[in-house]
Amino acid sequence: MLNKLDGGSFKVGDGRLSGYMAVALAVLSFFGVIAFHFPEYLTTPQLRQSYDVNVIRHVMFVALVISGSLGLWNIIRNVNKRAAVIAWCFISVTIALGGHRVEVGDFPDNTPYLGLDWFILDLLGSTLIFVLIEKLFPFRKQPVLRPEWQTDLQHFLINHLIIGFALIAGNQFVNVFFGWAVSDAIQSSVQQLPWLGQLFLVLLMADLVQYTLHRAYHEVPFLWRFHSVHHSVESMDWLAGSRQHIAELIVTRCFVLTPIFVFGFEKSVIDAYIIIVGFQAVFNHANVNINIGWLRYILVTPQFHHWHHASDKAAIDRNYAAHFSFIDYILKTAVTGESKWPKAYGIVGGGMPQGWLKQQFYPWLKRRKLVK
Ligand SMILES: [Zn+2]
Ligand SMILES: [Zn+2]
Repeated sequence: MLNKLDGGSFKVGDGRLSGYMAVALAVLSFFGVIAFHFPEYLTTPQLRQSYDVNVIRHVMFVALVISGSLGLWNIIRNVNKRAAVIAWCFISVTIALGGHRVEVGDFPDNTPYLGLDWFILDLLGSTLIFVLIEKLFPFRKQPVLRPEWQTDLQHFLINHLIIGFALIAGNQFVNVFFGWAVSDAIQSSVQQLPWLGQLFLVLLMADLVQYTLHRAYHEVPFLWRFHSVHHSVESMDWLAGSRQHIAELIVTRCFVLTPIFVFGFEKSVIDAYIIIVGFQAVFNHANVNINIGWLRYILVTPQFHHWHHASDKAAIDRNYAAHFSFIDYILKTAVTGESKWPKAYGIVGGGMPQGWLKQQFYPWLKRRKLVK
């Protein structure tokens, strides 16, 4: 009998799924206790305003209990004991460091920081939400821990840790290069628009900038070297979207921030935009088969973005949009006549090494012409 949760790679009772869960929860709890000790360097100022540290304590306690129990269960059943021992080591160190009871005093608000809390919370939340969606509406049957998941988890980790740096870089960029474009007249007329109108406008502006940049990444050979990291993923799921060269991530964020900064949208509109862009960036890569009928000609769906990643000839340099698919249909860059799903993903020429670090060096070192 095959385990339903993972789509068929683990046999029930082999202790791998329980082992992975035990280790993951124990490691996240360990990261959590380190963040409790050094909140000024390991938590995100904007994020920590929106959660209650007591709730985090309860979550950590529950995670430790689940992790320890899963480890014990493996030991009792005499399966995957290695994972149980690793999990228990992390649990022991976490408890020795104070566990969920560590006192957090006052600390300065303006230190340089890594977004470790953002990584822990987003990994827990996204795993719960997207694994559930992928198991409820799967396009293809594939395990949660599909090939190359380790590389994409490394990207996920680093992308979250550098959030503070990316925010500073983005703010500096728009202030230095586009400060001149800010006009009170334009900003007040934008803010007089109805809320939904502003939301549509911010998504459209961001997507037009993103489309232009994305197309350049595909059509300029030097830029393609960097973007090919994102396209090297061969198993699409919610985690696959994290795979991105760090230079591309920062440059894209800088440019996409520009219209938001220049047009001066209301804060609640920007908050809604951040939630939508965060969800869609993950969801578009997810292994999810949803049918939204004719709306697919307006909105980007997982199927639309999966075609962007396809290695089929008809899909090369197509489907650039991130929010509105109509941009590609209007500009004649949409994959057409492909009602189904792609057969394979990745770079036709292959050759991308695995691992975050090697992929960061890859665009700088390789001199041969990359094939899409
Ligand atoms: Zn692309
Ligand atoms: Zn993508």
